Amino acid sequence: MRIVLIIIILIFPQGLIRLRAQVSQGELKVTCISNSGFLLTSHNHKVLIDALFSYGATSLKEITTGIVEDKPPFDSVNIFLLSHYHADHCDPQMVNLYLSKHPDLSFVASKPAISFINGVCYDFILLKKQFCELTPEVNRSVAATVKGITVKAFGLKHNAYYRNGIDMNESMLNVSFLFEMDGISIFHSGDIKTDALQGYLAYNSKWTDRIDVALLCYGLFESDEKDLDLVVSTLHPKYIVVMHVPSENIKTCEAKIENLKNTFPDIVFLKNRMESRTLTIKDI
Ligand SMILES: [Zn+2]
Repeated sequence: MRIVLIIIILIFPQGLIRLRAQVSQGELKVTCISNSGFLLTSHNHKVLIDALFSYGATSLKEITTGIVEDKPPFDSVNIFLLSHYHADHCDPQMVNLYLSKHPDLSFVASKPAISFINGVCYDFILLKKQFCELTPEVNRSVAATVKGITVKAFGLKHNAYYRNGIDMNESMLNVSFLFEMDGISIFHSGDIKTDALQGYLAYNSKWTDRIDVALLCYGLFESDEKDLDLVVSTLHPKYIVVMHVPSENIKTCEAKIENLKNTFPDIVFLKNRMESRTLTIKDI
């Protein structure tokens, strides 16, 4: 058996590389699913966020099935985070199925999000041992440690969308997460625009947490470069990964993101599903 293994390694040396950890200490592999859905892989941890949905995204079934069935690269995920329960971030049935198939998986979400899923899937509450409920007030934060990963949840106002003078998103609690994977500090904004950051600053005077990689909604950069200035001068990220780019005008958005690199070079935009980039984080 040993001889066979040695022969296999000699013939397929890349197989040996695959046996080792794919991500080194000090690196973060960011894999795009769609919208704000990402798989994040560090040396010892895997985190999924906003990854199970079907609304507004065609041909995602193969990926979401791979997640639910624990197929690589989605095997051995430690925690699954949900920023909010809009349909382009969350399919309740998929979340219910995923958690029920993986009893060791922890689910981090706000109370409204858990209640919403439970309203659609009556037996979801039976999985409550897997829940870590973090429900911050708007412009406040709460924290917990889940599976050895420190998670801080910020209540940052969901971006507004007005119809008949009413903000259609006014009752939606958006949670932005800050979590640490092997010493790398990652921020995921959920659906916010700059007014959410300004609102947070008005309550808290300044942002105090270190951010290595900020996954930020495209809405934060929509108007002009002043938006980028506000983001960078508030959050001080080492890298920015732009997410939730509107698919209907992707070329225009892509050109705009390219332009932003003149101000902040370390901006990453993963255009295609399952496209990934490994980021090296210095000074952690
Ligand atoms: Zn939303």
